[in-house]
Amino acid sequence: MDHNVTAQDKLYIGGEWRRGRGADITSNFPADGSLNATLPGASVEDVDLAIERAQDAVNDPSWRKLLPHERATYLYKISEGIARHADRISHVQSRDTGKTLTETRALAMSASGTFRYMAAALETMEDALTPSRGNYLTMSVYEPLGVTAGITPWNSPIASDAQKVAPALAAGNAILLKPSSWSPLVCLELARVIEEAGLPKGLFSTLPGAGSIVGERIVTHKAIRKVSFTGGTETGRDIARKAAAKLMPVSLELGGKSPTIVFADADLDLAVAGVMFGIFSSTGQSCIAGSRLFVERGIYDAFVAKLVAATERLKVGHPFEATTQVAPLIRPKHRDEVEEHVAKARADGGKILTGGERPAGSDYKDGTYYRPTIIAGLGNDSRLCREEVFGPVLAVLPFDNEDDLIRQSNNNDYGLASGIYTRDFPKAWRVARALDTGTVWINTYKQFSISTPFGGTKDSGVGREKGRDGVRAWMAQKSLYCDLSQAPHPWAKSAL
Ligand code: NAD
Repeated sequence: MDHNVTAQDKLYIGGEWRRGRGADITSNFPADGSLNATLPGASVEDVDLAIERAQDAVNDPSWRKLLPHERATYLYKISEGIARHADRISHVQSRDTGKTLTETRALAMSASGTFRYMAAALETMEDALTPSRGNYLTMSVYEPLGVTAGITPWNSPIASDAQKVAPALAAGNAILLKPSSWSPLVCLELARVIEEAGLPKGLFSTLPGAGSIVGERIVTHKAIRKVSFTGGTETGRDIARKAAAKLMPVSLELGGKSPTIVFADADLDLAVAGVMFGIFSSTGQSCIAGSRLFVERGIYDAFVAKLVAATERLKVGHPFEATTQVAPLIRPKHRDEVEEHVAKARADGGKILTGGERPAGSDYKDGTYYRPTIIAGLGNDSRLCREEVFGPVLAVLPFDNEDDLIRQSNNNDYGLASGIYTRDFPKAWRVARALDTGTVWINTYKQFSISTPFGGTKDSGVGREKGRDGVRAWMAQKSLYCDLSQAPHPWAKSAL
């Protein structure tokens, strides 16, 4: 397999491949810093053109009048196209983000599954005949919103792009996709697949470019009827403020500082494996990373020793090597930020149990590698336990009892996910219901299913994606009243 990516210098705007009119975007391979591609990003004019084409396409009877099962055929074709090109997509994404090929292939197949699921969900969606309060029929029906947008981060692009594009198209909308300028290439692969599937031109555009220019224009443009955003909490807050000004619905999938909990009665091998996967897979660059670990005091020392030993056996390495478990971080500036978090944790009195530095050796010298890091000795109110690091850095803390544990776990601005390890199922159930997070994993972590809604509480976001209702989230509800009496209204009868 050729590990190079094809130089790509055009964007997919309004159904045509065009040179972007914005600033250049550069993509480098995080494993060695080599250049993948430089491409001209999108501009405000490109956004306006994409919106104009999207408005035409979404109102065209050839799309507007399609029956749901006919619309679904496009999504099935896109699903098949992603699966067919999964090798290429995963290589491009690994070059763009430094993730392992194993992970990017799984992300590509997950994106394919998302399109297939949303097509099937669309085919089974029903409108409602509501109980009538008179001699008329009342119905509640769902209709497309019109021109919509998805704004996505760099950490799992093809999967998060699919989670927006698939339900938006299923719902009958047009969608503009604005990926992160740190990972601009994979969205163009998605565009190729969508073009190949024959989706009517204009319904999908992809506009990599600066958030402050391209993203801002998309959010504030009057014609955009919904934005679904995945990214950092502060960006999400800014988007929500702008959306409020134009009364536009938004869904916000934001950051996290997720607690993982190990009770003394847990299967310890299972827990060690789950904790490591939860924080160190994707090199910790995951919104749901289990970055705060609470261990019951009775087993704290033994469990942490076992966890540290296993962590030191993890393979930090090149994204294209099949045995690699921890690949490089996305780019040098991000590694600097991770290092700053670790420096602050040290200054606050944190004890580095393992990691806390770049790996040594010639294999690592040009890449943005960072060793899996475990830090003890800091309280739940420390900066390390409050701020999202978005890197392979785990804080470990002891807890004394269930009440203490729930209070500490919930005492955080974020509420995205959590994990519980115990053999006591009633206890797992009790604690799961008490945790203030959008997802709780029991004796596992980071498992996903497109059929199960996903989203956060508090600073982790608003709204849910996935599941059958995922399509409805991209639709407007309309009420229909149809008179059955065929007689003039009694109120006006005397005047007739
Ligand atoms: P980010 O907020 O910096 O950027 C996300 C996207 O928003 C990018 O496409 C960016 O260009 C765009 N953007 C930036 N400023 C904008 C503006 N003013 N208007 C409109 N768009 C703008 O986030 P990131 O660094 O790319 O991603 C990491 C963050 O994403 C982490 O906080 C992580 O937790 C979060 N995340 C959340 C989920 C989830 O499902 N909850 C999933 C993945 C990542």
